[in-house]
Amino acid sequence: MATRSLEPIFIEIPDNISVEAVPDNFVSYVLKHQEALPPVTWKNWYSELDWQHVFVLFVPLTFGLIGAWHTPLRLKTGILLLVYTRLTGFGITAGYHRLWAHRTYKATRTLEYILAVLGAGTLQGPITWWARGHRAHHRYTDTDLDPYDARKGLFYSHMGWLIFRPRRKPGPADISDLRSNPVVKWQHKYYLLIAFITIIAVPTCVAGYGWKDWQGGFVWTGLIRLVIVQHSTFCVNSLAHWLGDQPYDDKHTPKDSTLTALITLGEGYHNFHHQFPMDYRNGYKWYQYDPTKWFLWSCEKVGLATHLNTFSENEIKKGELTVQLRRLLQKQEVLTWPAEKSDLPVITWEDYQCQAKSRALICIGGYVHDVSDFFDKHPGGAYLLEKHNGKDATSAFFGGIYDHGSAAHNLLAMKRVGILLGGAPHGSEEQFVPPSQHLRVSRYDELSL
Ligand SMILES: [Zn+2]
Ligand SMILES: [Zn+2]
Repeated sequence: MATRSLEPIFIEIPDNISVEAVPDNFVSYVLKHQEALPPVTWKNWYSELDWQHVFVLFVPLTFGLIGAWHTPLRLKTGILLLVYTRLTGFGITAGYHRLWAHRTYKATRTLEYILAVLGAGTLQGPITWWARGHRAHHRYTDTDLDPYDARKGLFYSHMGWLIFRPRRKPGPADISDLRSNPVVKWQHKYYLLIAFITIIAVPTCVAGYGWKDWQGGFVWTGLIRLVIVQHSTFCVNSLAHWLGDQPYDDKHTPKDSTLTALITLGEGYHNFHHQFPMDYRNGYKWYQYDPTKWFLWSCEKVGLATHLNTFSENEIKKGELTVQLRRLLQKQEVLTWPAEKSDLPVITWEDYQCQAKSRALICIGGYVHDVSDFFDKHPGGAYLLEKHNGKDATSAFFGGIYDHGSAAHNLLAMKRVGILLGGAPHGSEEQFVPPSQHLRVSRYDELSL
């Protein structure tokens, strides 16, 4: 009887797929069986452009630069530029990112409306589109289903993913909570109008009515400010996956960097953020530069935000320790260590005495050491080694004559050539473990010392 092969549930991802319908082998299955669009090359790039995104990215940039060339920046307009950059930036960091993409706190309706309006002022799409892509980025980090996969290079993760049509559809992510949110729905419905008001009308009118700088308001606080905030956000996808340290996990690309934090209103502690995305902070240490954290903390104090989530301090420290232990293990594994007991021959006292006549052997802590090549290097002088040749120098080594330090003990252990039969340790056995091995990092399946 002929066997029929089973049809897969899906390879192409339906738009309205519920997360429960996603099979457990989804990522590997899709990546193996779904045909991606051919790569963008120097030959086909112009036919692969996403014209809507090209318009959004390059029109404000071009007109902003031309306008700035012809428009002097007045002090008051400059101050407005700084303030408005920060405010609309919070629309993305505190609103789109930490509130809607990650639900790290609860906002009152008033704060939701404020953040939805400010976020639209950066022309980064409606909340639903932005948060859907960002949730996919967290779920499929460093795979082809991550919309701004950092493995594809700095330019791709910064803006290449927007300029060119995606080679694959991003992996599914649940945004049903956002679809039922009235503020999100309101922003979606009036997105272009809100964007026009916040990007063009507000800065132009404030500078125009305020100090008669209509052109400066439009060019500097409208266009140039828009470009600054856009690229500041893009840096979270590019720079924050490329530059810095990985104190909490080194499995994927996200990194912590103060420089990225300075550019992105505090979103630069991205290694922490990918590990603890439900935490309202990115810079969780009090001194780390995270204005968005301070903004949300202030919102809580004035009653605009509640339930600011923080991850368990114990688990954060455990994550940090795990990386540190892994790094210590890597350092440890490239070093040469003393011979283990099981690798050494056991010799009798008589044998030891006999062999000590032909080479310099000293017994310390039950181990026999060959110190022939150390006579000239012994800081205490060769005569002490000669004196203890063929003897038990345990007491002398551990304080009787000189209380040797860690380096000496570590080096002594490297000179082990045998174990003395019945050579009972003097005092506690722990004393005879070289200091470098006292706190040796062991894998879970290794026997401890
Ligand atoms: Zn995030
Ligand atoms: Zn990321």
